Amino acid sequence: MHERTYLDHNATAPIRPEARAALMDALDATGNGSAVHGEGRGARATIEAARAKVAALVGADARGVVFTAGGTEADTLALTPDFFRGEERLGCDVLITSAVEHAAVLRGHRFPVEQVDVLAVDSRGRVELEELDVALAHHAEAGRRALVSVMLANNETGVIQPLAEVARRAHAHGALVHTDAVQAAGRIPVSMRALGVDLMSLSAHKIGGAPGSGALVIADPDLRPAPVFSGGGQERGRRAGSENIPSIAAFGAAAASAGSAVEDEVVRIDALRERLESALRCEFPELVLLVGDVERLPNTSCVALPGVPAENLVIALDLAGVAASAGAACSSGKVTASHVLSAMGVPERIARSAIRLSFGWSSGEEDVDRALGAFRRVWPGLLRRARAA
Ligand code: PLP
Repeated sequence: MHERTYLDHNATAPIRPEARAALMDALDATGNGSAVHGEGRGARATIEAARAKVAALVGADARGVVFTAGGTEADTLALTPDFFRGEERLGCDVLITSAVEHAAVLRGHRFPVEQVDVLAVDSRGRVELEELDVALAHHAEAGRRALVSVMLANNETGVIQPLAEVARRAHAHGALVHTDAVQAAGRIPVSMRALGVDLMSLSAHKIGGAPGSGALVIADPDLRPAPVFSGGGQERGRRAGSENIPSIAAFGAAAASAGSAVEDEVVRIDALRERLESALRCEFPELVLLVGDVERLPNTSCVALPGVPAENLVIALDLAGVAASAGAACSSGKVTASHVLSAMGVPERIARSAIRLSFGWSSGEEDVDRALGAFRRVWPGLLRRARAA
């Protein structure tokens, strides 16, 4: 039995020790954050401390942080035609998004489908800015306000979008701008102010927090998206329901830990990925590195052995002790190419073979060694199958 190597941080990162400690402390404390007694005030203090840490991770005002149950809920909360500031309604008539967004955006938004424009991406997976300009001008001329949603970094490829430029162009047409930063936050330095976005989605379990919490961060704390569900007035009326305090506490601790080390971690993780990719390139010439020459997260690698279905490679690596994941989606037993790679124009035969390897805070040199060892063991068998296909 080989020691396990976890290279699937983009799916879920292992919980950080600081987050685990905060989670356990909060589990042991009783109190509803809305109660006025001492226990309630203690719970409130835990929530507000976490809120400040999450805000600091992305350079935002803590009052703009709305805790949710995860990244999916944050995206759905953000992507509504109805915003309010005080009594004033700030309506958005159309959603402009990109073809490579996560399903939480593409399927989770609250716009009628006929009010959604999906922008193409280039062969490196970056949004076509000229196409964005055309869409913005078209809707502005027709008197329609747009909500633009473009992710900061892609979950399958790690490709980083030119978001500051997207926000600048969108604002010039009076649009609101949302970004799904679920994969970017904690992995690269992120500043909401520098990016100039209005709304940003985050998820705790991607940065070493516990599952069950995320946040929508709103640059203007007085801007309110229509709530997803109604009930109590928690989160300043923006998200009803008693808060998941243990998970929120862990989220805060993970955000503080990830944020304090992010500059050094970018360098460390990039070196691990570089070592893995150059060894793979050199030892396995049949392997295709799908994304290289473009700004991308330091932790994500997307590779394919053309002719070998992605799930076969994932299973072979799993049996050899390495947790990776398939870029392709499998539904009803039929493997389809990932919509991200298809949008980039990657041929279907290659896209259906693509797998993702993603490092994170718990990764070290030994993971690269073990991953390379696993590739060496599974390669001859896979290559035979690829040649026979
Ligand atoms: N957005 C992106 C880019 C993601 O990668 C994910 C999860 O994979 C989500 C949103 C959904 O986040 P959660 O799992 O917290 O709902």
